Amino acid sequence: MPSSKHLVDLDRAGVEALVRALKQPSYRAAQLYQWIFKHGARDLDEMTNLPKALRAALRDEGWGVGRARVERVVESVDGTRKLALRLAQDGAVVEAVLLPMEKERGRYALCVSSQVGCAMACAFCYTGTLGLARHLSPGEIVDQLILARAELREGERVGNVIFMGMGEPLHNFDNVVCAIERMVDPEGVDFTHRKITVSTSGLVPKIDALGAAAPVNIALSLNATTDEQRDWLMPVNRKWPIREVLAALRRYPLPPRRKMTIEYVLLGGVNDTDEDAHRLARLLRGMPVRVNLIPWNPFGEGQFKRPDEARVLAFQQILKAKGLMTLLRVTRGLDIDAACGQLGERPQALQTEIPGEMEEEHG
Ligand code: SAH
Ligand code: SF4
Repeated sequence: MPSSKHLVDLDRAGVEALVRALKQPSYRAAQLYQWIFKHGARDLDEMTNLPKALRAALRDEGWGVGRARVERVVESVDGTRKLALRLAQDGAVVEAVLLPMEKERGRYALCVSSQVGCAMACAFCYTGTLGLARHLSPGEIVDQLILARAELREGERVGNVIFMGMGEPLHNFDNVVCAIERMVDPEGVDFTHRKITVSTSGLVPKIDALGAAAPVNIALSLNATTDEQRDWLMPVNRKWPIREVLAALRRYPLPPRRKMTIEYVLLGGVNDTDEDAHRLARLLRGMPVRVNLIPWNPFGEGQFKRPDEARVLAFQQILKAKGLMTLLRVTRGLDIDAACGQLGERPQALQTEIPGEMEEEHG
């Protein structure tokens, strides 16, 4: 019988209450919690130090681990690994992507999803075309880290968690904060706050709330330098325009000596002119930021095009000349549709070609 209640959706207090209700000693709660969040057990029967009777009682009450099923792992020529995860609750599929990091062999950034689809409807984003199906629960978010770690080989590790997969994390604020709390619990997943980055399209009150709730790093998807253009590319701008969202970043409680990230998707002929670069530098003057330039990743027919390499380098050069630390994001996993803004199940006909890759440059 499939389980109807999922242990991955409990926090520590929830596990303790459950164990108490089953009239078990409290150390069983610690064991159960570790099986779920530290050892990543996929089934009650793996929990061999728990008495059979306890496992049976849990099962009788409809409890299962509730871990997503790794449906598929696709590896790109560049080492990017995309995990398609089928969720226990309703069979929806989300993706988590392991991206090899530049500086250290065997270290990966894990790009996690926060929603099935996304409600923000940004014009250039594949996920945005899907609309929002639902929020992910805290357990479903943490699970992506647990399952991705289990896919790693000897000597490999997840160095960073970035909320840049499907969905707008700050639109699912409570669950994302709850997931972060569980990710950093030393008794469980044991990750560090400093290595977590939440990327947002710019929900101003929630940026403030995140700063107050969890000391994680923040990334803003800016993508335009005038409100007129950003209103069109990112409808969220009509509610919180550029000036307001940058003010929220300025007051974000960033740990000392850290930089926040400004993401800027380069859309050929749209937001990639010299004037855009100069305006961008002006907007960011004096802020502790680094800019990630992301040449647009194509999908479907699309109304956009990827700028050519010369344009991208010229844009970057202007920012660097203004003293802005600028990173040109190597487009990873394009051959497996795991690049940013391409996450989401898609019909076969929309698979993209692999355009030439660009070198990464540090400012
Ligand atoms: N919703 C959050 C996080 C997920 S989107 C946000 O918008 O920040 C992650 C990043 O992918 C964003 O910076 C977004 O601007 C970028 N992106 C979306 N579609 C893209 C595309 N087709 N090509 C390149 N980057 C894209
Ligand atoms: Fe949602 Fe981010 Fe895509 Fe915009 S860019 S539609 S906020 S996932």
